[in-house]
Amino acid sequence: AARAQTGPRIALHDASATPDQTSTFRLHNDLHRAVDRGELAAFFQPQVTAQGAAIKGFEALMRWRHPTLGLVSPAKFIPLAEDNGQIVRMGAWMLQEACQQAVRWQATHTTPLRVAVNLSLRQFGDPHLARHVQQALDSTGLPPEQLELEITEGTAMLDMQHTLNLLRQFKAMGLKLAIDDFGTGYSSLAYLKRFPLDVLKIDQSFVRQICTDRDDRVIAGAIISLAHSLGLSVIAEGVETAEQHALLEEMGCEEIQGYLHGKPMPAEEVAGWLSSRTT
Ligand code: C2E
Ligand code: MG
Ligand code: MG
Ligand code: MG
Repeated sequence: AARAQTGPRIALHDASATPDQTSTFRLHNDLHRAVDRGELAAFFQPQVTAQGAAIKGFEALMRWRHPTLGLVSPAKFIPLAEDNGQIVRMGAWMLQEACQQAVRWQATHTTPLRVAVNLSLRQFGDPHLARHVQQALDSTGLPPEQLELEITEGTAMLDMQHTLNLLRQFKAMGLKLAIDDFGTGYSSLAYLKRFPLDVLKIDQSFVRQICTDRDDRVIAGAIISLAHSLGLSVIAEGVETAEQHALLEEMGCEEIQGYLHGKPMPAEEVAGWLSSRTT
């Protein structure tokens, strides 16, 4: 029979910490080794044309294969990495990895495919960012027009002069530039007009109920007309149904991203996914 545990117990961590605080603390520590131990992975989600669903490219989405916790979601570790500064190294790793994978796809795919990489707020403020981007392009040979950088509306609007300078620098390098999660922040339209952007990404919170919620449809429509009047194209994210796709296409949205066309997949699966669609 099992004996009840008696005697003193050693507190390995603050006993008053909730399980959630404990795991957050632990993730915080483990993040420092994630890059060096090769625990980060890039997953790729397809982005297709609204008309005809032709593949245009992929968004690179970071995953962390934690040795004991398994796959940790970026919603959980990106804010921590942003907090402890590791995001700068992780982001540099991601730029390199995404460019390298994109060059691989091109070996078997005839039309140029673009790869979109997310930049965090802290990365965006890092003075080495432009150098990290240039290094990723130089070392992989990816043509700059096939690399798209995504910054959220919140990041873009925090320090608009900095954003303007950096985006101009990226544009001069030949990159494509997108505003992510558009509609969730507060944009200065005067700056939006001055930023040398290519794409607005409609946030998935407006897409989810677009078929049934009139307000969401109105907002998505307003984003599409704003983008077009500024000479930008629009991609909708979080598209899960054929009805959402059809509606967005009818509204003039150029590209679609979402589970309907493909979930984020490990790099090893992209080549197979591409060939299964084009043959
Ligand atoms: P995001 O950049 O807006 O990426 C889109 C998110 O929506 C991804 O979540 C994607 O898996 C999810 N998604 C795409 N289609 C659908 C759909 O049809 N239905 C639903 N329910 N979800 C869909 P994920 O991969 O969990 O990433 C979450 C966020 O974490 C990203 O949002 C981005 O802000 C951040 N993130 C991911 N990778 C990186 C990275 O390498 N660097 C930085 N700085 N942030 C990253
Ligand atoms: Mg994104
Ligand atoms: Mg987004
Ligand atoms: Mg998002």
